[in-house]
Amino acid sequence: MTSREATEHNAGDPGSVESWLVSAGRDRRPGSPLNVPPMPASNFVLGERRAYSRDDGTPGWEALEEIVGGLEGGSSVAFASGMAGIAAIFDQLPAGSVVALPDDCYQGVVGLAQAGQRRGRWTVHRVAVADTAGWVEMCGVADLIWLESPSNPLLTVGDLDTICAAPRKHGAILGVDNTFATPLNQRPLTLGADVAVQSVTKFIGGHSDLLGGVVTVRDANLLAALRQSRELTGGTPGTLEAFLAVRGARTLALRLERAQHNAMTLAERLARHPNVTLTRYPGLASHPTHEAARRQLKGFGTIVSFDVRGDTPAADAVCAGLQLVQHATSLGAVESTIERRASIPGQEHLPPTLLRLSVGIEAVEDLWTDLDRALRAVPEV
Ligand SMILES: *Cc1c(COP(=O)(O)O)cnc(C)c1O
Repeated sequence: MTSREATEHNAGDPGSVESWLVSAGRDRRPGSPLNVPPMPASNFVLGERRAYSRDDGTPGWEALEEIVGGLEGGSSVAFASGMAGIAAIFDQLPAGSVVALPDDCYQGVVGLAQAGQRRGRWTVHRVAVADTAGWVEMCGVADLIWLESPSNPLLTVGDLDTICAAPRKHGAILGVDNTFATPLNQRPLTLGADVAVQSVTKFIGGHSDLLGGVVTVRDANLLAALRQSRELTGGTPGTLEAFLAVRGARTLALRLERAQHNAMTLAERLARHPNVTLTRYPGLASHPTHEAARRQLKGFGTIVSFDVRGDTPAADAVCAGLQLVQHATSLGAVESTIERRASIPGQEHLPPTLLRLSVGIEAVEDLWTDLDRALRAVPEV
């Protein structure tokens, strides 16, 4: 069976995700390599399916699309980055559209939405992630309902069951940025969303070595429109990135399981630490949307946000004092990373000492030793 046939055969039903991650996207004909090698080619001898790779793709992207499409339960389009995929969705909006955006949202998406509003392409309404009634109301008026859950970096879980099932304006698109949950913890398309987005840069890649994105949809017209947008804007994934993303996907279930276990342990301990004033993790009973998280998510994820006691320099000192945990942006990789989010332009509304920790797969006791040591060095206030 070629990988194309496998896609059609398995679309929407990955069976057990662990086995799917290891086996999908594979060409099973005798003599084929077990994993699709990178194909550095733009141009092909005419007469077969591929003529030019911006239009016709490379086998590596197709393998990635098959893997993620099976996980999300739809048909996927791979892009050069998560933002390239999200821009292709915004690109579908007719002039004068209304966009509903979470109040706590990936800053790149906020930037994209605001830039379009400044140019008069659409108007943006912000809705609190946990304001279910507000979202249901927006479903009746907005042309693009954009959800992110759990949100970045406050990790608020929106009521996706209710919002995805709410009646929508004719022709509206409901999209869920599913990056923080991964399709292993949450499958928005099965709840009624039109679009699910993964920044492959994060968990699917998992090694801080690539940029990539995948958009998954159920509707054939939207699929064709997104493919056309990728072709016309050139937001195509690189062949090496696609190869690395597939390699990363093979171990996603193992990495996520380990990192999630680490995150729960660290969140529980951080919540009791004398130099931490507030710990936000959807798996903690104290989290404001813990009930929604329990109902909706298979796992609580690997991101923990916590506020350091004291002032901004104290929080910066914690980041600087860590040795195993890397002081770096981004998330979802094998290594743990930490960042003071309010230090990022446009994120000044966040609590000033909030640190977002992306927990990796290191030994949890080593991570705790590192965090505890850096936190205990915070001067008394
Ligand atoms: C990183 C990220 C994006 C953007 O993805 P890129 O691959 O960096 O373009 C979008 N949404 C969320 C939640 C992210 O974490």
